Amino acid sequence: MEVKTICPHCGLLCDLTLLKEREILGTVPSPLCVKGLLAWTITYDQSRIYQPMMRKGRKHATIHWKEAVETMRRKIKNKGALTFVVSGSCTEEELAWIYSLSNSLGAPMVTTDPVLSASIFCKQATISDLETADVIFILGELLEFHPVLAGQILRSKYERGTRLFCLSSRLGPSSWFSETLQPLPGGESLVLLHMAQMLIQQGTYKKEQEKIPGFPEFRSTLKALPPVDRAGIKPLALSPVVDALAKAKKPLFVVTPSVTKTDNWKETLLSLSNLALLLDCGVLIVGGLEKGLRKYGVEEYDGKRKKVAFIFRSDPRSVDADFKILFTPYFVEEADLLIPIPCFTELSGTLTDADGGTKKLNKISDPPQDVREVGSILSEVVEELRPSSPPPKKPLFEFKEVKEKINVPRVSAGFPFLLYSQPTYFNFDWVKLKKLLDRFLDLKDSFELNPEDAERLGIKEGAEVMLRTEKEEFKRVALVRRS
Ligand code: SF4
Repeated sequence: MEVKTICPHCGLLCDLTLLKEREILGTVPSPLCVKGLLAWTITYDQSRIYQPMMRKGRKHATIHWKEAVETMRRKIKNKGALTFVVSGSCTEEELAWIYSLSNSLGAPMVTTDPVLSASIFCKQATISDLETADVIFILGELLEFHPVLAGQILRSKYERGTRLFCLSSRLGPSSWFSETLQPLPGGESLVLLHMAQMLIQQGTYKKEQEKIPGFPEFRSTLKALPPVDRAGIKPLALSPVVDALAKAKKPLFVVTPSVTKTDNWKETLLSLSNLALLLDCGVLIVGGLEKGLRKYGVEEYDGKRKKVAFIFRSDPRSVDADFKILFTPYFVEEADLLIPIPCFTELSGTLTDADGGTKKLNKISDPPQDVREVGSILSEVVEELRPSSPPPKKPLFEFKEVKEKINVPRVSAGFPFLLYSQPTYFNFDWVKLKKLLDRFLDLKDSFELNPEDAERLGIKEGAEVMLRTEKEEFKRVALVRRS
């Protein structure tokens, strides 16, 4: 039997048709990315949890629901020291319950996801903007991270003549199809600020944008920039890109999750959103299910230690708290109390796609006995709790000061080459998926090396190499790749 739902692993929310008899058997072949094709396997992952679990010493032990609920009731008494951490994987129905509880306790609702939190300060574009943009500027490596969206961008190029630019320190597949600026790693922010400076000096930005708060301060920041050569880019190389963006009727910036792999990714995204504001164009953040979060006024996690964190479908490793309560379908070592909830095939609910539209998750199979939905659990923790609708929208868009790290981070002299490990995904479920992908693609524990460095260091494809960083040592298999 064929059953339909959606893949919840990025803002495209592709339609997913699964084969099901008593159990789910697989995905009906369709043009999905490999993450989508394998998404269903999470349902039967051996790390699923079926009962609440509490840390007891170094280990976790299963506990009764009653004890789990009592513990949560005690913990919410720590008013003023609570935080509620959510991710784009939470359904709208779950967010309504979480918002209701956090609001009633006066505790903030935050996200730790780098791309999601970055998206809060960007003016966002939608996927449909790809069909009308005449110049697309890609920040980072898109093709490798997001083949489905990359297909749409390439269609724009070859069917409509859209001009493509790419800013990436790594010459991956995106650069093969674009006019590419390759800065030193971490130099992206400086390049983007120089592009903004050029627009202002030439007077080719949209003048009406001067009314936006923060413009004078932003303009004066640009006067004190270090030279762009520091990022490994010649000033002349910027002119064609800046001219094309200024002349475009509908320029569009596309940001990929690979950007968050650099130390100063936040400054890079701030610089990009300022540049986009100067041109009055949007930024499409690939990956994003964040529009659902923005409805609820979710803010960026401030990184401060909390007494108690209630964490929903997010990675507990990025939250600092004395006691972490994780609502999750899977076992995660770093939580103190684990509350089992359904995975995406066991849940009906609404997710918001990258265009701000909504799509429905269909329940394909029943959750295991004792696995309960978020709303049912929270309404037992606080009786009388009801789901709430989102708060009124706050106005957005402002030029933001880029204070930190506009200098290019130095590559340590101890490293004879630049190391790229295999990509890790920013979404908690994707960490699990990555393990599956590694098995599927046979990429486990590998690293990439360009052919020149490989020859110089005498390393052959497939060789096991011991790598040493300033902090640790680890073994990896070498993949000799041009990119
Ligand atoms: S593109 Fe996104 S939504 Fe579509 S299958 Fe891949 S991960 Fe899932």
